[in-house]
Amino acid sequence: MRRRLGLGLTGLATIAVLIVPPWLAWREAQRQAWAAEAEQALAIARDVLHRTDEAAVQIMNGNRTLARSGLAPCSPASLALMRRIALGASYIHAIGWVEHGVLVCSSMGPFPIPLGSDVLHTASGAVLYPNVPLPGTAQGALFAAERDGYATIIHRDMPVDASGAAADVALGVLHLQTCRVAVSRGRIDPAWATRLGTARSTTFADRGRLVAIVRSKLDTIAAIAAVAAVPLAGVARRAHAIALRLVPAGLLFGVVAATALGLLLRRRMSLEMSLAAALRRGEFFLLYQPIVNLQTGQWVGAEALLRWRRAGGEMVGPDAFIPAAERSGQIVRLTEHVIEMVARDAGAFLRDHPAFHVAINLSAADVQSPVIVDRLTAMLAACGARPSNLIVEITERGFLHLESAREVIRLLRAHDIGVAIDDFGTGYSSLSYLESLDLDYLKIDRSFTEAIGTDAPTSGVVGLIIDMARSMRLSMIAEGIENAAQAAYLRERGVEFAQGWLFGKPMPFADIARRADGYRHAA
Ligand code: C2E
Ligand code: MG
Ligand code: MG
Repeated sequence: MRRRLGLGLTGLATIAVLIVPPWLAWREAQRQAWAAEAEQALAIARDVLHRTDEAAVQIMNGNRTLARSGLAPCSPASLALMRRIALGASYIHAIGWVEHGVLVCSSMGPFPIPLGSDVLHTASGAVLYPNVPLPGTAQGALFAAERDGYATIIHRDMPVDASGAAADVALGVLHLQTCRVAVSRGRIDPAWATRLGTARSTTFADRGRLVAIVRSKLDTIAAIAAVAAVPLAGVARRAHAIALRLVPAGLLFGVVAATALGLLLRRRMSLEMSLAAALRRGEFFLLYQPIVNLQTGQWVGAEALLRWRRAGGEMVGPDAFIPAAERSGQIVRLTEHVIEMVARDAGAFLRDHPAFHVAINLSAADVQSPVIVDRLTAMLAACGARPSNLIVEITERGFLHLESAREVIRLLRAHDIGVAIDDFGTGYSSLSYLESLDLDYLKIDRSFTEAIGTDAPTSGVVGLIIDMARSMRLSMIAEGIENAAQAAYLRERGVEFAQGWLFGKPMPFADIARRADGYRHAA
């Protein structure tokens, strides 16, 4: 059940890793395409708005110049000024004096021009004539704005007509106050005006169009905004082009990541599944690394280190399979096997050498239950060995469930079995709980021994650990000693025991026994 669930989750994770990167790439292509097309549409709308604003400024300036001239309306001097204004301003078709909706005289001459009906009064006090019916011009082509008695006529569609935008782009100018379309080329929905809210500009999609609206900063005649609506097909085309670049990269990344994940998970799972078979087939064995008395150099003990040689001859390190055994709940069985192997390899030697010890590593799960104490004492009894022949090593992770660990340690010590804290300084140990545990040895982790005599930031830590261990009356075993300088420093600082390649690498127990015996005879 657990295995099936694990496989299912693995499958899902692999599929997710495979699918997500190309999907993200596709989404990114869409985002980039929208951003680029929206920017282009906004630029077109700004262009329309620029011309509209320009026309509005020319209208206002023309009307104001006449009003402030002080000339009598329709006098020859006023008509001359009107002509000058009309000629000097690029957008102005005509400018003149208004009475009752009729241009009674203008830059075109002293004849009346009706400005048409459908009049709009703006908030700023201007009067707009959206359809000036000037003879000889198309219906709706001219537009007039009146203020202070003067009105200016311009070509209404000029702001959109002069745009260089493609034919399928709809353009327009919206009158925001009335939500009316003032000018347009193509279909412009007046309701779009409401989408602008109080923003200066906006873009959105509506019925197959990307709509860009930009509000005018001027409010001289009326509050207006320019609109450009481009076909959404352009966004799709651009997204497709970008996706052609991004999606294969995402796909490649997904395949690489999924393959890596798959291999990793398979290795992890297969490792966990092969452990039980390896136990059955007897693929595990122990090597023993000597532990020496730093003052005399005598081999006083050995740490049992587990090795796994797979059927094909491949060696798997404990750093890989111990965590797998812990994850899959097989560690307790594995530790039992270690105890059996220690009895087989070293039982007789221990019986004959009461001062020599073997150190066995225990995992967190092992120290959860007092059963481990029975197993160890039974093993000692079966070999005729003594409790002094045994030390157990527990890493700081072993103390995570402090109460049960404390009880196991109490029982071990009650049986006179030595207890060491392993890899000290690398885990979560806090001084307070260390003090609350009744331990015999502290093993100084290799990472601190390595730093001795170097300028690594941890080089001073070993001194602190030594002082602390001494204050707690713990004997010390320094791990990972590789050179004489490290050994000399530790000896000088009073560290009692040491372990490392300088003295001997992990080896079969027979080699340990030969060497330990040899020393005894030599001594
Ligand atoms: P550990 O208990 O701290 O064992 C010491 C590790 O340091 C061993 O690695 C040993 O080979 C290595 N070592 C010793 N001296 C030197 C040295 O001078 N230089 C260097 N570079 N390395 C040195 P190994 O055998 O690979 O074991 C790794 C860890 O796996 C052990 O760390 C221990 O935590 C765990 N382990 C090994 N056997 C068992 C076991 O039977 N049960 C459990 N629960 N854990 C075990
Ligand atoms: Mg150890
Ligand atoms: Mg260690």
